[in-house]
Amino acid sequence: MKVRVAEQAGYCYGVERALRLTSEAAESDRKPIHTLGPIIHNPQVVEEFAAKGVRHVSSLEGLSGGTIIVRTHGVDPEVIARADEMGLSTVDATCPFVAKAQQRAAALVRDGYSLVVVGEKEHPEVVGILACARGQATVIERAEEAQGIQGDRIGIVVQTTQSVENLRQIVGVLLTRAAELKVFNTICSATTKRQESAKVLAEEVDMMIVVGGKNSANTSRLSQICRDTGTVTHHIETAKELRPAWTSDVETVGVTAGASTPEWLLQEVIETLKVTG
Ligand code: SF4
Repeated sequence: MKVRVAEQAGYCYGVERALRLTSEAAESDRKPIHTLGPIIHNPQVVEEFAAKGVRHVSSLEGLSGGTIIVRTHGVDPEVIARADEMGLSTVDATCPFVAKAQQRAAALVRDGYSLVVVGEKEHPEVVGILACARGQATVIERAEEAQGIQGDRIGIVVQTTQSVENLRQIVGVLLTRAAELKVFNTICSATTKRQESAKVLAEEVDMMIVVGGKNSANTSRLSQICRDTGTVTHHIETAKELRPAWTSDVETVGVTAGASTPEWLLQEVIETLKVTG
């Protein structure tokens, strides 16, 4: 069986930066070190950091010193202000692409646009963007939800890991629903490149394996994009989940990984497929 790997797969710039900042904090004397939520949506990496004493908390409540790390998704700016008041040392690992989406959202609200955020309502990145827009936004995930929106001036920003195709469909609906429509495509280039190369590969192989956290939005979207091509797709976190039955009739398997998937997990899957295929 032939194994092909997507041209763009695995860690992106924002995740590499956040992991570097977290490693630096773990080696500093500003302990204890906490992250606000798991540092990335990958359980294996979170476990590695836990072994180095980096724990995650869901809020600042109960913390009395040390360092708090804001992850790539960003956070409500008031949380950072509160951490300062509490005397915590803050490491802001918000991805610059997410920070840009936050700034665009705040500016659109300031300029009087009705803000629409395209993304998953409960996702921490969207929650942070909403906080920067002082809660004055409608969050939608699919084009059908855009049918109910009407406004004079509508502004759009997008969760960085959404697909361009989904954005295109939503913009198509909103075009006829506002006198003025201002769209900031805040999908990050790492996401777009990983999605495009996953789609190209999925169209050329018999089966796709997508490696990454089941709780990772960008990895789940990669799986969906692969499935949408009609190619059988399996989303796994580690090589242990591979099943021999999946590859029994397969000549070529494609492999890709989300932006929060470490290289060693991807390589383990590739090697296992080569040995068992
Ligand atoms: Fe930043 Fe994009 Fe990576 Fe998210 S996927 S952390 S927005 S570079």
